[in-house]
Amino acid sequence: MTTEPVHSAPPAIHLLAKPSGAICNLNCTYCFFLSKELLYPGDRFRMDDETLEAYVRQTIESQQIDEITIAWQGGEPTLMGVDFIRRSVELARQYLPQGKTIEFSMQTNGTLLDDDWCQFLAENGFLVGLSVDGPPAMHDAYRVDKQNRGTSGRVLAAYELLKRHEVDVNILCTVNAANQDHPVEVYRYFRDELGADFLQFIPIVERASEVTLEIANKGWAGGRKGRPLYVNKGSMTTERSVGAAQWGRFLCAVFDEWVRNDVGDVFVQYFDAALVSWLGMGSAMCIFAETCGAAPVLEHNGDLYSCDHFVEPEHKLGNINETHMLELLATPQQHKFGNGKRDMLPQYCLDCEVRFACHGECPRNRFISSPDGEPGLNYLCEGYKAFFSHIDEPIRLMADILRRGGIAPEVMDILAERDRARFVGVGRNDPCPCGSGQKFKRCHA
Ligand code: SF4
Ligand code: SF4
Repeated sequence: MTTEPVHSAPPAIHLLAKPSGAICNLNCTYCFFLSKELLYPGDRFRMDDETLEAYVRQTIESQQIDEITIAWQGGEPTLMGVDFIRRSVELARQYLPQGKTIEFSMQTNGTLLDDDWCQFLAENGFLVGLSVDGPPAMHDAYRVDKQNRGTSGRVLAAYELLKRHEVDVNILCTVNAANQDHPVEVYRYFRDELGADFLQFIPIVERASEVTLEIANKGWAGGRKGRPLYVNKGSMTTERSVGAAQWGRFLCAVFDEWVRNDVGDVFVQYFDAALVSWLGMGSAMCIFAETCGAAPVLEHNGDLYSCDHFVEPEHKLGNINETHMLELLATPQQHKFGNGKRDMLPQYCLDCEVRFACHGECPRNRFISSPDGEPGLNYLCEGYKAFFSHIDEPIRLMADILRRGGIAPEVMDILAERDRARFVGVGRNDPCPCGSGQKFKRCHA
């Protein structure tokens, strides 16, 4: 394939590579990525040495920044064995020019980790993203193995092993129909039971149409007759998907708990990203940036797609074994993809008071109509509007503290003082003055 770049590639990219493609040892019910194996019928789904070398070398060559990240994701990357990932580290060190540094990350379900793995991850400073959906009963609702058994026991054992080896761990928690109504319980579980300090919440939104909804509700794992390839089409959602209002309530409740107790001790990606937006520094997360296109994904065979959430035939940019990724990322196709995030916003978003922080979120979720009937509004809009409005005052406060040279945790003292004044004289059974609609004793008391 030949391409004729007329644009330049982004100066920095966040590329995720899937060495085993969509193949995983688990069968998480909501994981529509499992269906992507249908894109490569009959394939062995193992990245070969040539593609591994091209991935590492081109990732280093393609970026103008000093800190390069080699990131592994799945499917389940540990299926490749520790020696495969070790080879990526060796290659990265071989190709890294002087003056640049390299970091490694891996996203995993954790169930195949052992001492060898953890020792290797610790020695090479990997940041490991571990998928945990909350306390065991919530985790096991959808995160099951091929025999449909819950996986919480194995995942918690992996977490303990990682901590014992002092590996940096980021908890990745999807928010779905099973845990959406338990935000504080989920957050406190991570903070108090696991002692986690880096958290990332991800809304589960599985799109379906009238034709696909019934089969989609059964899950995306293999062996199911008529299983469709998941694509970003349809304006219905599966029964596992988070509701828009629930998503907003979840984020608000976790934020309230965090901002009063844990600023500076626990890092929640959404809250960090919001603070960056309130500081007027753009966004640290692609979903909240004005444009996107710098987060491509690499399949096991070298195929490069516009984004992890658009591994679909029409969003394939080419293959890095034939064309350098720098060239693929500079194509009009990828520019159109990235700018489409901004250019396709409905008027409802353009008029929105929190657009500076939201920017219509990810295009993959824009499948409902605005109140005036214009298509292209984000399914999660109601939740984001509620969340960004709810945090405006405390986040503004934090941004002001930082601007005048203070540190973010100072916000907790200010809020405690305000709460004392605001709640003085309120009875335990009175409605909470915060406006939550709950009794005071169940809310801020
Ligand atoms: S499509 Fe969504 S997830 Fe992908 S880069 Fe754009 S905003 Fe990020
Ligand atoms: S909150 Fe809703 S209206 Fe506002 S920018 Fe986000 S998606 Fe658009």
